[in-house]
Amino acid sequence: MRITILSGGIGGARFVSGVVAAAPDADVTVVANTADDIWLHGLRVCPDLDSLMYTLGGGIDPVRRWGRADETWSAKEDLAAYGEGPDWFGLGDRDIATHLVRTRLLREGRGLTAATAHLCERWRPGVTLLPMTEDEVETHLDAVVDGEPRHLHFQEYWIRHRAGVPFTALSYDGVESSTPAPGVAEAIAGADVVLVAPSNPVVSIGPIVAVPGLADALRSTSAPVVGVSPIIGGGAVRGMADQLMTGLGREISAAAVAETYGSRRDGGLLDGWLVDVQDADAVDRLSPAGVATRSVPLFMDDDATTRQLADDAIALARELRR
Ligand code: GDP
Ligand code: CA
Repeated sequence: MRITILSGGIGGARFVSGVVAAAPDADVTVVANTADDIWLHGLRVCPDLDSLMYTLGGGIDPVRRWGRADETWSAKEDLAAYGEGPDWFGLGDRDIATHLVRTRLLREGRGLTAATAHLCERWRPGVTLLPMTEDEVETHLDAVVDGEPRHLHFQEYWIRHRAGVPFTALSYDGVESSTPAPGVAEAIAGADVVLVAPSNPVVSIGPIVAVPGLADALRSTSAPVVGVSPIIGGGAVRGMADQLMTGLGREISAAAVAETYGSRRDGGLLDGWLVDVQDADAVDRLSPAGVATRSVPLFMDDDATTRQLADDAIALARELRR
C-alpha cells in the first residue's frame, strides 16, 4: 500500500508516526509544509521538515516536542554576546548542525529535496520525506505591532508574539510562482491512500495545497483523500491555531475545517474526515455535503491512541476506495 500524507510539523509528525506503526509494510511518503522556513544567521531553517525527521528518526526532544534531544545552547549564548538577533528564535547547537549541512547542500545547488534526503540518511525516518516545494515560500502576516504596520514572518508572529497581535492579512509569499518539489505530485497521483494529517489548516496544510498544481493533484488522484481534524471540541489541541482562524474570521470547529477544504465531489479536496467523539454532530453536517465523516477518539495522547487514530483514518480510506 502506498500512503501519501500531507503534514505540518509537530502535530503532523505524531500522526505520521502512528501511520508507520499502523501500516508497517506500507510505502509512506510525507509531503511537508515548508512555508514556516526561515533564513537565520545565513542558515536555512526548515522547522516542519525537521520536526518530522527528528520525531520519526528518534531525535526529537520528548519534553519540548521540537528540536533535538540532549540539546545545548552555547551558540545561542555566543550569538547573543555578539548582539546578533533575533533573540526570540533559539537554535540549539545540535540543531545547528542540521542547518549547516542543509545550507551547504543548498549552496552547492542541490535542491531542498536532495538536501532532505541526505539528512534522512542519518535519521532513517522510515518514510520518504519530501518538501512541498523547493522554492522559497514563506508565510507572512500583515500585523500592527506597537502601533506600526508590519509584514511579519510567520515565525516572528508565532514565536515572538505568541500569535498575540492582531493581523489584517495572511499570505504565502512566493507561492504563486512556486512549483511542487520533484515527486510530490507523483506521490499524490500514485498513492493508494492520501491522508491529511491533523495539522494547522491555515499555516501547515494551507500552504501545501496553495502550491500550484497540488490542489489539482488532490482533486484528480484515484486514491481516496481522508483528513483528520486538528480541532477538537471547538479549539486547537495544542498550540495556537485558534488565533489564526479567528483572525481570518473562520469558525473554529472540526466541521468548518472540513468545509474549508471542501468535498472532492464538489471540486474540493476531501472524501473523508475524522472528527473527535465530542464533535459527532459534524457527521450530520458534513456527510450530506459529500464528506464521509466518522467520529473517533482524536487525541494522540500516547503511542497506542496515535496508532489507533491512524488505523481509523486508513480504515475510512479503504472503505471509501470500494
Ligand atoms: P506545527 O507545524 O508544529 O504547528 O504542527 P502541525 O501544523 O502539524 O500540527 C499542529 C496542530 O496539531 C494544532 O493545530 C493542533 O490542533 C493539532 N494537534 C496537536 N495535538 C493533537 C492531537 O492529539 N489530536 C489532534 N487531532 N490534533 C492535534
Ligand atoms: Ca509548522
